[in-house]
Amino acid sequence: MAQEEMQFQAEVSRLLDIVAHSLYSEKEIFLRELISNASDACDRLRYAALTQPELMKDESSFAIRLKVDPTAKTLTIADNGIGMARQDLIDNLGTIARSGTAAFVEQLESKPEGSSLIGQFGVGFYSAFMVAKQVEVSTRKAGEAEGWRWTSDGQGAFTIAEDGEAPARGTRIVLHLREGDEEYMDPMRIRQIVSTYSDHIAVPVILESRKEDEPDQTLNAASALWTRPKSEITEEQYKEFYHHVGHTFDEPWLRLHFKAEGMLEYTGLLFIPSTKPFDLFHPDRKTGIKLYVKRVFITDDCSELLPPYLRFLRGIVDTEDLPLNVSRELLQNNPRLAKIRTALTKRILSELKKKAEKAPEEYATFWNTFGPVFKEGLYEDQGQREALLELARFRSTANQGGAGTDLVSLADYVGRMKPGQDAIYTITGGDPEALAKSPQIEGFVAKGIEVLLLSDAVDDFWLTAIPDYDGKAFKSVTRGGADLENIDKLEGADESDEKKADENSPALDALIAFVKLTLKDKVKDVRSSARLTSSPVCLVADEGDMDMHLERLLKQQNQLEHSSARILEINPDHALVKALAAQVGKEGGGAVVEDAAWLLLDQALIIEGEPLPDAAAFSRRLSSLVERGLISGG
Ligand code: ADP
Ligand code: MG
Repeated sequence: MAQEEMQFQAEVSRLLDIVAHSLYSEKEIFLRELISNASDACDRLRYAALTQPELMKDESSFAIRLKVDPTAKTLTIADNGIGMARQDLIDNLGTIARSGTAAFVEQLESKPEGSSLIGQFGVGFYSAFMVAKQVEVSTRKAGEAEGWRWTSDGQGAFTIAEDGEAPARGTRIVLHLREGDEEYMDPMRIRQIVSTYSDHIAVPVILESRKEDEPDQTLNAASALWTRPKSEITEEQYKEFYHHVGHTFDEPWLRLHFKAEGMLEYTGLLFIPSTKPFDLFHPDRKTGIKLYVKRVFITDDCSELLPPYLRFLRGIVDTEDLPLNVSRELLQNNPRLAKIRTALTKRILSELKKKAEKAPEEYATFWNTFGPVFKEGLYEDQGQREALLELARFRSTANQGGAGTDLVSLADYVGRMKPGQDAIYTITGGDPEALAKSPQIEGFVAKGIEVLLLSDAVDDFWLTAIPDYDGKAFKSVTRGGADLENIDKLEGADESDEKKADENSPALDALIAFVKLTLKDKVKDVRSSARLTSSPVCLVADEGDMDMHLERLLKQQNQLEHSSARILEINPDHALVKALAAQVGKEGGGAVVEDAAWLLLDQALIIEGEPLPDAAAFSRRLSSLVERGLISGG
């Protein structure tokens, strides 16, 4: 069959361009990438052969073979793994399949530091073009008759043709090395690279001898890393394993390597990354944990192994407790797996707890990276709720220095509660800066009552699901009935507002009645406020109504049609309010106060970030009031 030429997906071309032109400091990682892929290919065939043993009948053991040819200036990496069919070649070596990766590449390109970001992201197969001017891939899928040959110079196109000389099974990659990259034909150099990056690979990596009388050399330990004693594994080996298994390239933030024995027998080698994967919120993101049964790779897409709120973990779980021929379908609703999941979850949470206690600053970096995902567990995982609440961290009015370590725990919060305070006060919204300036929290701040500033989308949801912490209910300060008066009575320090609350002045009562009459059903009620200190007004939700921010979110997502009317709270001590109260009942005062009533509501809406029902009227009233003020005042 004739050779066909095809174009790379645009993102691949961009990636290849970055790869070729970046002064990438660690070119040698191309070999790690190709060996990593070869090892994955062996894993996948071993799994397929569980149900189709004939796939492996010709050759029952796996190997990754390296070969150099100084005359042709080539380095060859060959495996006898699963191989690729024609369409696999097109899909895998012509596009970027992983979710979110294409978008990431786009970002890379627009950034001047783009090329340096590659390191932490990994370019996989395409890294071959860092050292090769021409790459040939010959491959035959296990169990299939035809072999295929893929070639490219990495310049926008590749070719595919049938290949009678493809390996009997698996993939052979021939790299035609660039001028200046001859070092990758040096056996010493190759040995050094393999032992640095690929020692943990469970399949033997063999360097073929070029002399008759010299044997081939196995360059790696060729045993699964997690089965080795901890004392024999170096930090570097752990890290390289993490990069291989997680397809990530950052430093692991936390490592857990353990063996559970007894009722359930399994080994875990798990990592928490230090950086956020860019597809963390992508719906078709796979879980990051690979499942092995008795050292045989089963799947890297087992959603039963960890709850979704721990989806940022990477690593492997290898169990003795499942049958080897377990199908992926059987993994669903498997009671043993469910038990492993619970045990793993507990272990992870308890490690996190240790970290939070011993190294709060490091814990804060973890929290800032994965907190929003982790908090999903607050409503998803009832069983671990207590542990999760202990681990949760929040920004708060008590602690707003720089970014990073200014986080508080619920235990901190409760320890600081004022006499008479029986609730944990919260405010939710999109922007933490804006939250800290919300009028609704003024009175709390003035009294030294802490308010948690919650700005992740998930916050509104767990708040509705969780009744309390340590017997203290969560209460939004944007609700009526956030009864400030009862708190702190005992301390009474610099409180000049003892008289406040109950008895309003008759003038204030008249103003409130007038505003109510003016705004009619646009508000649910108008009240004198105990929470405002510097702002004249704010809106709060009625006790029984939905939280205002949650309601806004639901409306944005078209999950809610109508909003409920709000309560307008008026600051009785504000100069503007006092002046307005003096106008009520005065000759000619009515028109001014009516305009002012609408303006007060509009102001409160603006602070909430809500649209004004009638912006033109707002503008007219504002101009007219300012004008009047200017003329009468000066
Ligand atoms: P990743 O390994 O993260 O999936 P790569 O760019 O390294 O990304 O590889 C892309 C895909 O190409 C792999 O997922 C695999 O499907 C396929 N592939 C690469 N090398 C091999 C190989 N030696 N044998 C079989 N398939 C391979
Ligand atoms: Mg790879």
